[in-house]
Amino acid sequence: MKKRIDFSHYSSIKIGPVVDVELIEEIDSRYEEYFLIGGANNLLVSPAPPPLAMLGKSFDYIRIEGDELIIGARTATGRVVSFAKRHDIAGFEFLAKLPGTIGGAVKMNAGVKEYEIKDMLLWVRTHEGKIPANELGLAYRTSNIDSIVYEAGFKLQKGFDNDLLQKLLALRTNQPKAPSAGSIFKNPPGDYAGRLIEAVGLKGKRVGNMAISDMHANFLINLGGGTFDEAMALIDEAKRRVFEEFGIELREEVIIL
Ligand SMILES: Cc1cc2nc3c(=O)[nH]c(=O)nc-3n(C[C@H](O)[C@H](O)[C@H](O)COP(=O)(O)OP(=O)(O)OC[C@H]3O[C@@H](n4cnc5c(N)ncnc54)[C@H](O)[C@@H]3O)c2cc1C
Repeated sequence: MKKRIDFSHYSSIKIGPVVDVELIEEIDSRYEEYFLIGGANNLLVSPAPPPLAMLGKSFDYIRIEGDELIIGARTATGRVVSFAKRHDIAGFEFLAKLPGTIGGAVKMNAGVKEYEIKDMLLWVRTHEGKIPANELGLAYRTSNIDSIVYEAGFKLQKGFDNDLLQKLLALRTNQPKAPSAGSIFKNPPGDYAGRLIEAVGLKGKRVGNMAISDMHANFLINLGGGTFDEAMALIDEAKRRVFEEFGIELREEVIIL
């Protein structure tokens, strides 16, 4: 079954074409030929993306089984935080305000400060079966996952930390509210992408209706009607200028399709 998605509405950065996306409701290896999208909070979709698929409602669930929390990969991170709060479960506080699905969070090893999904993850299920977390190459905003993740198993520990939740939510006040895809670049070792982009004078730089945020230079924001080409022009300029001035190659965190 296909679902028509307008990426200029669906994606967090509000850019992209209208395309028919394959809707997956059962585990099957034939879907491996598609690029799987989650909530599109970390994507920049070009006018001509590869064939896309997304998980359907049958992968939107959370259940407790023994000493594990089992979550369908389509489940929204916000729902996981609410569930953890309601059942007094520890370790998922950092997912508040980290938009997306559990599949996307696992693939990206999403995290905030020192908290990352890999601290909680036990295994994922792909079409080949269960794969333990220590075989997934999980590191700073990356993994070696190249299959569709259908569900994931997590540690079940007691004690939702409301103080931590409040602290993490407070961190978000220096981030722009305009549509974005979160951080554009990964922080290079020992430095911050935002600091480097600011140092080369690009904070607030605008191309058409896209801009490097004047609140946080590692956020590319859509001022309304911004395009893929405008976004790419800013990404390329930031990479070029930072390399020229500091000899540092910025690497995209956002995935360009
Ligand atoms: C305002 C804002 C703030 C953000 N802050 C943070 C932050 O603090 N920390 C952080 O880490 N990220 C942050 N992000 C980025 C984003 O929230 C994360 O990368 C999130 O994990 C993306 O999830 P998603 O479901 O939207 O994935 P998508 O953006 O749809 O996809 C991201 C990647 O995950 C893959 N993927 C998605 N689902 C699956 C699956 N089921 N199986 C296999 N691969 C899959 C996709 O193929 C793609 O490679 C932020 C984004 C925004 C818009």
